[in-house]
Amino acid sequence: MSARILVVDDLEANRRLLEAKLGADYYEVLTAQRGEEGVQLAKREKPDLILMDVMMPGGIDGYEACRRLKAMPETRHIPVIILTTLDDRDNKLRGLQAGAEEFLTKPIDDVQLMARVKSLLSLKVVIDELRAREANGKRLGVIDEDLRNDPLEQHRLVAGNVLVVDDNLTQIKSIKAALGVEHRVTVMGQDEAEGPPDLCVVSMTARSFDGFRVIARMRSGEATRHLPILAVVEPDDKQRANRALELGAHDIIGRPIDEEELVARARTLMRRKRYMDALRHRLDQSLELAITDQLTGLYNRRFLMGQLTPLAQRAQCGGEAVSIMVVDIDHFKRLNDTYGHDVGDAVLRDFAVRLGTNTRPSDFACRMGGEEFVVIMPRTTGDIGCLAAERLRRSVCGSPFVAPGLGHPIEVTVSIGVAASEESDESVDALLKRADEALYEAKNAGRNRVIGKTSPRAA
Ligand SMILES: [Mg+2]
Repeated sequence: MSARILVVDDLEANRRLLEAKLGADYYEVLTAQRGEEGVQLAKREKPDLILMDVMMPGGIDGYEACRRLKAMPETRHIPVIILTTLDDRDNKLRGLQAGAEEFLTKPIDDVQLMARVKSLLSLKVVIDELRAREANGKRLGVIDEDLRNDPLEQHRLVAGNVLVVDDNLTQIKSIKAALGVEHRVTVMGQDEAEGPPDLCVVSMTARSFDGFRVIARMRSGEATRHLPILAVVEPDDKQRANRALELGAHDIIGRPIDEEELVARARTLMRRKRYMDALRHRLDQSLELAITDQLTGLYNRRFLMGQLTPLAQRAQCGGEAVSIMVVDIDHFKRLNDTYGHDVGDAVLRDFAVRLGTNTRPSDFACRMGGEEFVVIMPRTTGDIGCLAAERLRRSVCGSPFVAPGLGHPIEVTVSIGVAASEESDESVDALLKRADEALYEAKNAGRNRVIGKTSPRAA
């Protein structure tokens, strides 16, 4: 996988070295000499990964640059690896707390660097895919711009469920002490889970199970595929650390576990999971918005046309008949004028429920707009379609509607036109037009009735 990596370091020798190492693996490398310059370049060029030096003369240091990158919506999804010669605990924590995904000490171990780069980039591919789909949704008008910042901010909340897979009691105790402050921690095989986990901590040094197998199984399981995994390894066991990353662990922590480091790594992993969950959720939601009528929860016109076209084509090609009914609530304007729009909306919602209970699971009930509804009935001939329409009509006029805030029930009736596309070669528009004509006839004949029109050839 090729990617663009931004290297921010004040020393030319360091930049050259990293450029050579990364270039040898076919990564494209951008460079900056100062923290501020790095932030601006990242904002403009949107690299896939950033390697950030800490000590840079003049202006901001690497920690501050990282904090700024993680605070901007345009760059917060780009993973950052902090590189430094300061190999002490405080500096490592500062880096992680600034939001960096990883902290590596110079001189850089090539294998370790490449393992982390690959692991972070593979995650970035998923994020990019989600972001691209969201951008598409916005362009198509399916994702509402107004909603934009709101749900994505949820990733800032970090409390969640942590699942620990370990058999070392001392280590479990230390993990619980560290993460129990912010999160709900459960140990596999010991505690009852309180919900799906947001993070899994897996020991790679357990005696009673194979940690690699646990990671592999979680990566391939449907429910746990996106779950962030933090692998616990011996600090000098680079081979196992790299193997864990290759199998799909998102992060590594050395033993004995430093509780503050664990807290910082858990936060970063969970924040990223929340961010990705929020993106996925928005996509699901936008897909639903795209086909659903917001007031009634029925399908909308866009969905109707998408479904009806192939069904009608199949019927034309000698396939099974499809019938449609066009339903209009009688005197709806008068009802709105008399009682107000809130009552009108309540009637539309109540009608939608009756529509839902009087159609089959295989039918598609849609709101076309205003007080007009269409039901697509696949594999249904015109006479059966008329019976279904008659049943719906009776369910509407049979019991009055109740609107909240209104002291008395309201009598509502509907007029329905039915058309069936049997073996005719008419278009979807012509079929809808025929059902509309039938509806018009029903209105003219005094409302509260069903008129059916079967296709010319089948009649
Ligand atoms: Mg430096």
